[in-house]
Amino acid sequence: MEFRDLKKQYQVLKPQIDAAVEAVCTNATFIGGAPVKELEREMAEYVGRKHCITCANGTDALLLAEKVYGIGPGDAVFVPDLTFFSTAETVASLGAMPVFVDVDKRTFNIDPAKLEEAIARVTATGELTPRAIVAVDLFGLPADYEKLECIAQKYNLLLVEDGAQGFGGQIGNRRACSFGDIATTSFFPAKPLGCYGDGGAIFTDDDAIAELLRSLCVHGKNGQDKYDNIRLGFNSRLDTVQAAILKIKLKAFREQELDAVNQVAGWYNEALSDLPLVLPMIPEGYYSSWAQYTVQLPDREKRDAVQAALKAQGIPTMIYYPKAMHQQGVFAGIPYENTCPVTQELCGTVLSLPMHPYMEQADVLRVAEALKREFI
Ligand SMILES: *Cc1c(COP(=O)(O)O)cnc(C)c1O
Repeated sequence: MEFRDLKKQYQVLKPQIDAAVEAVCTNATFIGGAPVKELEREMAEYVGRKHCITCANGTDALLLAEKVYGIGPGDAVFVPDLTFFSTAETVASLGAMPVFVDVDKRTFNIDPAKLEEAIARVTATGELTPRAIVAVDLFGLPADYEKLECIAQKYNLLLVEDGAQGFGGQIGNRRACSFGDIATTSFFPAKPLGCYGDGGAIFTDDDAIAELLRSLCVHGKNGQDKYDNIRLGFNSRLDTVQAAILKIKLKAFREQELDAVNQVAGWYNEALSDLPLVLPMIPEGYYSSWAQYTVQLPDREKRDAVQAALKAQGIPTMIYYPKAMHQQGVFAGIPYENTCPVTQELCGTVLSLPMHPYMEQADVLRVAEALKREFI
């Protein structure tokens, strides 16, 4: 059994993907080819934002989104303690201070009440300027943007949506990557919408920010002129081959994969309902793109034993994440540290099960049976 079956996905989409890759090779415009612009138009339309700017990966997307708003030394940026490293890494590499905020035990996303406490704590010391919130749509579920947008407005903070895992999610009829002032995503192969290498994108409604981002992505170019450099930028672009593949995959994602993955989640919910596990919770009005299906075990010992038992039966699982952000070595001793007890607990109890749109009900039942045996 595969944790995320990218081989099967390729077999299903092979005729279109092979043709798309061949067309790019024949055309030989490997950087900045027509599929890049076409994909950006389709993505912007899909998520409901005016602009989509593709770039080299999801980490660059975050870095660029933060840099374009001038985040830097002296700024405090609030990030969830349970996330992939990039969320905090990009903040710190711009010289700003990541302030870790605990998450909600059921949604795994940043806890708005704890966020307000953290803002108050930073404000009280007067050493840093609270500047931004980077909210993460963990495991495919959008964060609580209704509350986060109010908090951002109340304290005059920039709100960044890190939608690397959230692409395809919804709150009501608003899609992931349309929340906050600016949003980012990743096309790393295992993400909800992945390409065949690295890739990322930034979404904004602001024309001036979009233009600045396009300049930053290509060495600080002046308008269309790559050899007139008016600022320091990066070399961060999505290759034409990746864009061509993503156009095919976006269509499959919209038309079939999102429904499929929600059906798989439904099968899991039903098959696991009698076990002493905390199952993922999707709040009313929310829709997940199920980057992960993550259950909570009673304690660390049990979690580790269950993971080993499943592995012995050929069932791969993952721990997202084994370490809280504030416990990462590079952030040791950082001021404004918050112990984030919920995140610490989750790091010891979470287990992500195999999950992808090509998973069959028989596979789900096999995972459920294996789990059941651990509780008899
Ligand atoms: C994967 C991920 C990123 C980074 O994306 P890359 O394309 O791997 O650079 C950022 N944030 C979160 C929450 C992620 O899961």
